[in-house]
Amino acid sequence: MPTLGIDLGGTNARAAVVDEQGRILASSKVALTERSPAAVVEVIAEAAAAAVTAGGGMRVRGCGVGAAGQIHRDSGVIAVAPNLGWRNVALGALLSERLGQPVRVVNDLAAAAWGELNAGAGRGATDVYVVFVGSGVGSCIIANSQLVRGSGGVAGELGHTKVIPNGRRCGCGELGCLEAYAGGHNLIAQCREVVAAGRSPIMAELTGGDPSLLTPLVLEKAAEAGDPAAREIHERAGRMLGMAIANMVTVLNPARLIIGGGVLMHCPGIRRYVVEGVQALASNTSREGLLIAEAELGDDSGIIGAAMLAL
Ligand SMILES: [Zn+2]
Repeated sequence: MPTLGIDLGGTNARAAVVDEQGRILASSKVALTERSPAAVVEVIAEAAAAAVTAGGGMRVRGCGVGAAGQIHRDSGVIAVAPNLGWRNVALGALLSERLGQPVRVVNDLAAAAWGELNAGAGRGATDVYVVFVGSGVGSCIIANSQLVRGSGGVAGELGHTKVIPNGRRCGCGELGCLEAYAGGHNLIAQCREVVAAGRSPIMAELTGGDPSLLTPLVLEKAAEAGDPAAREIHERAGRMLGMAIANMVTVLNPARLIIGGGVLMHCPGIRRYVVEGVQALASNTSREGLLIAEAELGDDSGIIGAAMLAL
């Protein structure tokens, strides 16, 4: 029987009816106008009902939710969800009561990795390491077909591994995290700094002097055009990502490395640094038989994975 997958973001909730093979049969999206838990539960219920109706009213059994934030392991309690301003919200219990269905809540990245494992680039593999570089840097470890979640449920936080002692301040509050150099949000922040300091004529020209138009792709174009400040930020981010991911490959020895997320999908130059970094720096033995694959499901990986976790 199909299950429901929910992708809970900071601005809207998407719901999909997904079959056992991970195919989306019907979907819907509803904007979040209010961020109180009660209001968000109603929006999710509305999106779920719309998806079921769009699918011709088919029966579904079980619901999985992928939400940005730290989720208490197996309890369905969201410990911290910065984009919703939540602390310790028992979303699983609230939603289960509202929908009359068992509900499982997982981190959005774990949901996306589970989707790629079961219906995307990880099909057929049991030991997979998934890295997403978008606005942040996240990863997920799947060992022996199981999500590795750690004792507190926060395993896989690649973005908060340290790359420079006492380096740039990260959004998490700590210093020198990989994400502070290579996450999309921080790539843009670094571009703004050099443009504001007058050090990047090409990025200033590409954006017509409007800093709100700076993106990782603008950075990549400027770096390729020979802008020294852009090249420095771009190369440093790419090399740091390549080394960090190579080290994870050495530690974990996955059969498949899946890379995705907006920055890696839209910036081939950064992706190249990552692939070359893994090939050059992961230990020879850990690379034997390693397949590097791009994520296949795009924005749907999380909703498909959430639904499949509810199976
Ligand atoms: Zn951090």
